[in-house]
Amino acid sequence: MKAIINEGCIGCGLCASTCEEVFELNDDGFAVVSGKVTKDNIDDAHEAEENCPVNVIVIED
Ligand code: SF4
Repeated sequence: MKAIINEGCIGCGLCASTCEEVFELNDDGFAVVSGKVTKDNIDDAHEAEENCPVNVIVIED
């Protein structure tokens, strides 16, 4: 499983605060994938996917 962030992030920070094991903000303030999706963090990763205001996060199997 892995996370993908498509173009269009507005840097709201929600994903990084929801699932810090998988997402972080880069120096420009936009989200990047910082870690793997695992069985321990997938619920939080999906929560970030569902709540991203611009729907740019995809969690792939
Ligand atoms: S939740 Fe979406 S818009 Fe907000 S920082 Fe993460 S990827 Fe960007």
